[in-house]
Amino acid sequence: MENILELKNVSKTYSGNDAPSLQNVEFSVKEGEIIGVIGPSGAGKSTLLRCINRLVEPSEGQIYLENKEITKMNHKQMKYARRRVGMIFQHYNLVGRLTVMQNVMHGRLGYMSTADAIFGNYSEVDKRHALELLEMTGLKEFRYHKANDLSGGQKQRVGIVRALMQEPCILLCDEPIASLDPASARVVMELIRDLCREKQIACIVNLHQVDVAMEYTDRIIGMNSGKVVYNGGSKELSGEDLERIYGKPMGELIVGGERANA
Ligand code: ADP
Repeated sequence: MENILELKNVSKTYSGNDAPSLQNVEFSVKEGEIIGVIGPSGAGKSTLLRCINRLVEPSEGQIYLENKEITKMNHKQMKYARRRVGMIFQHYNLVGRLTVMQNVMHGRLGYMSTADAIFGNYSEVDKRHALELLEMTGLKEFRYHKANDLSGGQKQRVGIVRALMQEPCILLCDEPIASLDPASARVVMELIRDLCREKQIACIVNLHQVDVAMEYTDRIIGMNSGKVVYNGGSKELSGEDLERIYGKPMGELIVGGERANA
């Protein structure tokens, strides 16, 4: 399988900070692979995701997306490259006063002329695709509802559909379930996993919950102080690995799918 994304020696120090937020981060992601990123608050998980689509400029290193070095790209080239990167946010980033359908169609804006974008001239093919995705995610009946009127779980599902409308090769999900109740969180994680598997879209998802990462991802990248301290199978993550990632004994953990005391 092909590498969709490759990071080589990526470091980031924000201006005004002494300590780097990312240090020599290296890993690659294959087509359709689902990666969970875990680590304590401040470990650099968000910075990592933001560097991958250059919302944050890495200080050093190279990032390749679909075999093209995005760290070398100019503004216009980057705009095109970003169309293949779907973003899913903790707070959904929907336009609350617009309908579900309008929010979803925003996923197509990167593919349209400025005039068509301003007037909302979406193609019939795109509208049909949107309806199919809304149906698959159980949202079709809500398509004319204002985004503001939805529950958190429904909003996040709209966020997922909008990201899929971009026809991404990779989804970057920054704490996608941090604002959801456990039942909605499960629905959202299942959707992300199932849709990525079905459409062979790679996914990098930052998560607070180790057990969720172990259950829904193929591979885990564990970060501490800006460094990758674990990069391996989600099911192989041991109590020792977790201690290295979180820098302290973890108390009750879920190891190998069973509850265990570390
Ligand atoms: P995480 O997502 O794992 O909580 P972050 O990537 O948000 O970690 O932060 C990593 C480190 O970078 C932290 O020390 C944080 O204070 C710092 N940091 C993050 N964003 C900025 C910023 N815009 N300016 C300065 N420092 C930042």
